[in-house]
Amino acid sequence: MRKKLLGFLGTLGLIAGGGFYLFVLSKPRVDNLEAFRNLTKKKEITLRLENFEKTERVVVKILQNGKGVLLYDGPPVRELKLEIRPKKMGLKEGEAQTVVELTRFFFIKDTYTVKSYIDYTPPRVDILFAPYAVINGGSGAVRITVSEKADLSLKVGNIHFPFYKVGNNVYVSLFAVPINFRGSIVLEAKDRIGNVTRIELPSVLKTRRYPRYRIELKGKEKKVRIKLANLLGEEANELSFIDAFKKVNEEIRRENEEFIAEVGKKSEEKLYWKGKFLQLRNSKVVSVFGEKRIYTYEGEKISESYHWGYDLASVRNAPVQAANSGKVVYAGFLGIYGNTVIIDHGYGLMSLYGHLAEFKVKKGDVVKKGQIIGYTDTTGLAFGDHLHYGMIVHGVPVNPIEWWDKWWIKHNILPALQPSGTR
Ligand SMILES: [Zn+2]
Repeated sequence: MRKKLLGFLGTLGLIAGGGFYLFVLSKPRVDNLEAFRNLTKKKEITLRLENFEKTERVVVKILQNGKGVLLYDGPPVRELKLEIRPKKMGLKEGEAQTVVELTRFFFIKDTYTVKSYIDYTPPRVDILFAPYAVINGGSGAVRITVSEKADLSLKVGNIHFPFYKVGNNVYVSLFAVPINFRGSIVLEAKDRIGNVTRIELPSVLKTRRYPRYRIELKGKEKKVRIKLANLLGEEANELSFIDAFKKVNEEIRRENEEFIAEVGKKSEEKLYWKGKFLQLRNSKVVSVFGEKRIYTYEGEKISESYHWGYDLASVRNAPVQAANSGKVVYAGFLGIYGNTVIIDHGYGLMSLYGHLAEFKVKKGDVVKKGQIIGYTDTTGLAFGDHLHYGMIVHGVPVNPIEWWDKWWIKHNILPALQPSGTR
């Protein structure tokens, strides 16, 4: 009997203890307090309260130098939305402490704190050089100074171009203006705690019209089929002529362009090049950059593509020179471009040589301007012996015509990259 009673009391104790635990020890929780670590000029923070059923009062405040700024004092809510404007609230830049106090049963206080850092001054950015004008399909360069360490990017639509540090607080960026881009180019600087400065580049965007051509494939099947078979292998026999053409002109082309874009993003932080870029010797232009080619079969459109380079024809198997000094980052077969060499000139700039016969260089080679890197041919999707010459800025194809022009480089690129004018 005595034993039973003890057992009963023990059980009662457990229940009571559990209750005590539930009501007294089970603390309310505050999530997302971490968001108070860095306080910028204006910040919206939502604190989420958990397990707050027994909480009557919530106080949120920021303490600094013995003074406190009250952000909230009231009943608990699951989501507590707060807008913090440190400067308006009279807080100074520097360290502070954010405190959340939750009171339950009128006397039990749970306090959560986090160290805060206040900085409401966005980075100051000064543009030292920006080109007067840029052209869609073209390139540009900017030189800036920034007042503090910041994440920098130049936004041309949804493409973000990086900046390279060239001096104390001095940064440069080489950028491309995609052929279909309309709008403004925006420079963005974000400091380490998230204050952002955005400046529109003062450069005027001039629009250039690029040619469009319709190419009728009817009657050219035999010639084209040989090329398609080279690129598709066995598969070419299983597809109709139109499907095989579409596969090469769309799928393989896209893969090749994606590959070039990837390679193009991995440029060295080193200025290899000097002076204007060389054009294939004694050559004539067969096709220009930015051409839109609409392929038809019996008058009906079946496919289209853009031409991201210049086609330059000379004699058969003409020697191809490196257009400028740089490092070979690719030398191999590349689908529609055939045997291809890509040279990195540094700071995001590269040149591409397609439809080559053979290579005189390999990946990793450092080449000098004018050095023979290969010979022209018809490898890939080429119907006559020529060089496909392309230029790329951070993976985006650009019009080489600007880079062949000494005057353009002098007025648009060198003031950003080499303001002392030593080149
Ligand atoms: Zn071409």
